[in-house]
Amino acid sequence: MNIKVCKFGGSSVKDSTQIKKVLKIIKSDEKRKVIVVSAPGRDETFNEKITDHLLNIASNGNHFNEQKIYINAEKSIEVVIKKFETLCKELKIDGKLIIENLIEDLNNNYLKNEKRQAFFLSRGEHYNAKVITQFMKNSGLNIKLLLPEEFGFILDENFCDAKIKTITYENIKNKFIFEKDEIFMVPGFYGITDKDEIAVMSRGGSDLTGGELAYALDADIYENWTDTDGVYEVDPRIIKNSNVIPRLTFKELRLLSSKGFNVFHFNAMLNCKKGKIPISIRNTNNPEREGTLILNERVPMEDLVGIAKLDNMAAIHIQKDMLGDEIGFTAELLKIFEEYNIHTHHYPTDKDDISVLTDQEDLKGKINNLRRDIERRLDTNNIYVTYNLSVITLVGIGLKHNTFAIVDALSALKENNISFEMFDMSPSKISFHIGVSQNIADIALKTLYQVLLKD
Ligand code: ASP
Repeated sequence: MNIKVCKFGGSSVKDSTQIKKVLKIIKSDEKRKVIVVSAPGRDETFNEKITDHLLNIASNGNHFNEQKIYINAEKSIEVVIKKFETLCKELKIDGKLIIENLIEDLNNNYLKNEKRQAFFLSRGEHYNAKVITQFMKNSGLNIKLLLPEEFGFILDENFCDAKIKTITYENIKNKFIFEKDEIFMVPGFYGITDKDEIAVMSRGGSDLTGGELAYALDADIYENWTDTDGVYEVDPRIIKNSNVIPRLTFKELRLLSSKGFNVFHFNAMLNCKKGKIPISIRNTNNPEREGTLILNERVPMEDLVGIAKLDNMAAIHIQKDMLGDEIGFTAELLKIFEEYNIHTHHYPTDKDDISVLTDQEDLKGKINNLRRDIERRLDTNNIYVTYNLSVITLVGIGLKHNTFAIVDALSALKENNISFEMFDMSPSKISFHIGVSQNIADIALKTLYQVLLKD
């Protein structure tokens, strides 16, 4: 369908100034027909996201308490009400009914446990969408609010981490009828169960709402508006003038993201990938920039698109004589990790050795017993652990046809006297992992960037 689905994240709708920018963006392209909004994000006055305040209310202050943030539930109620009052005032809308309903919801006492949590969590998106719709109507936009409970955004009964039910796609197709200049506004993140109870998806779930709408409506594009110019070649906090990647494939983004790039909710991509709907990451504060386009397929103009770095990794090296002749050793080894509920990342192997990379954090309080179990059950000769590793990952579909780029990478490390602890090529040949000691990881990253990406 010849439309764009646009999702605006918490930072894009955190206050009246941002919401006015959103209006301008919508007005500047008549294909922007479906707008999904998050709850107001962190702002200068209220510090925490509105969704977190709502969770704090539902949990009687526990949510912040656990993080050693000393804001009690009463204070969070005040903050949420004040936020919406300020929005109504600054956007010059008559918010009397909205605020009355909000107060009533925040005093809800009959829902319990996870149903209560889900209901409270959903209120940020719910009321923000109401306020923004009203404001946009007053500004002359033909915009209609469609709530998930009205059009049937049906979720399962996993109330605080719910998944979409397939009937939703039919419901969307039936309810979103596009007439001339009409635009639809949808609050993200939440839906209803078959029994009409509110459920929310996982945190950051407005991305999912947008992705599912784009998929069901077979949109031309799914625009994800946020507060960065797109996906950077390297972490801009480490390399200030790094460039935004103009186009990359879902696979490349996945490889970059899983290694420390955090752009948006991955599950939101799945159906877009399936429906071959491109996702465009755009900056609400800088709409002139083209952002990053994520596609199923692209022409590989360059070997490498980005370099990611993941810190705080540990490598567990295991040696056993004649390991290479055993069948089932690796399966049993990984089973032990599974029993300890530890995610494993890479497995460089040799004939009689294997290393398993994990997040260091996951080993806390477990490493001693884990080591003992491996020794006993697998009768190993030697186990040693290297801590404080960083894994630097070079990503690009072009690497498949020019693996020599990796020669330049390793030469650059050699010239700068940077030794590495691990080297691994992915089966798809579109990424390479280099493990270095964390204290030289930033220097290694800068060196690789200079040689491989800097124009
Ligand atoms: N407001 C929700 C959250 O903070 C959902 C979202 O913003 O996408 O997780």
